[in-house]
Amino acid sequence: MSVEPQNIDRASRRTGAEHPPIAMSFEFFPPKSDEAEDRFWGSLHRLAPLRPRFVSVTYGAGGSTRERTLRMVSKITGETGIDAAAHLTCVGASREEVDEVVRGYAAAGVNRIVALRGDPPGGVGAPFEAREDGYQNAADLVAGIRRLGDFDISVAAYPEKHPQSADWDADIDNLKRKIDAGADRAITQMFFNNADYWRFADRARAAGINAPIVPGIQPIHSFKQVSGFAAKCGTSVPGWLAERFAGLENEPETHALVAAAVAAEQVTELLDSGVREFHFYTMNRSNLVLALARVLGQMPAGR
Ligand code: FAD
Repeated sequence: MSVEPQNIDRASRRTGAEHPPIAMSFEFFPPKSDEAEDRFWGSLHRLAPLRPRFVSVTYGAGGSTRERTLRMVSKITGETGIDAAAHLTCVGASREEVDEVVRGYAAAGVNRIVALRGDPPGGVGAPFEAREDGYQNAADLVAGIRRLGDFDISVAAYPEKHPQSADWDADIDNLKRKIDAGADRAITQMFFNNADYWRFADRARAAGINAPIVPGIQPIHSFKQVSGFAAKCGTSVPGWLAERFAGLENEPETHALVAAAVAAEQVTELLDSGVREFHFYTMNRSNLVLALARVLGQMPAGR
């Protein structure tokens, strides 16, 4: 993948017939209250006219959101006509319990799964111990899902390396095992330096991984909240990014403008380097994602 932006004009890089169309997916989390559920559906209805490839709903490690995830993914297609993808983690569960969830997804008409190991209760830094009767890691889970049916499967990738991978070779080997086990694409953890994504994609290609590596884009609705998440999952927050948001805690309008500018810069650079697939971490909100879709030349249906 080229690190240099391609020297093509803006209109053609977004819409030109010589470029493959852009595909977007949107990630949501299952709401915990009636009010949060209203926001979930409100955002989803606003984003649906962008015709994403799918909308995914996360799954609490250890199955803590099992029922809520299933309930949301079961309703998404009926409510919006958009394909739903259900996340699934295997940490803390037996194979049989996980397989039961997969069968439940299939019975609800959900044929896309984002297959993950999940983190132990102590968080990403805590040592992971697979259950003897459980799936041992995400690659093992992908193989298990493949045995159960014809699912479209996405897995996780880490442009800054998963915190538990001993080194880069171990990290890339692990991604290759997940793809070889039957995953259709990788979606990355959030990252803020595009160079990390390009280097990672180069490493993956060099290791013979040809599946799409879709950048996971985290719009910064709240710098404080997002930098907290980043610290938990091993994503670095560059100094220049912290500087842009410095002192904006009580200035929501400027904060929102800076957030839009930062994310627009990130997706435009990726687009210029040839990226055509984007996964947005929506945090169940729509405004920034709606703006970013427009930056990518993606207009809502009916316009
Ligand atoms: P794996 O691919 O199994 O890898 C985890 C670590 O173990 C890596 O360091 C790997 O190198 C190492 N490893 C794997 N196999 C072996 C082996 N045989 N020997 C030695 N080391 C090994 N979490 C949730 O709880 N719910 C969600 O819905 C959710 N959605 C996510 C969506 C995306 C797009 C991403 C990027 C992450 C998501 N996560 C979610 C977080 C994820 O669960 C954590 O990052 C978790 O720590 C790792 O999951 P994984 O699927 O990448 O694990």
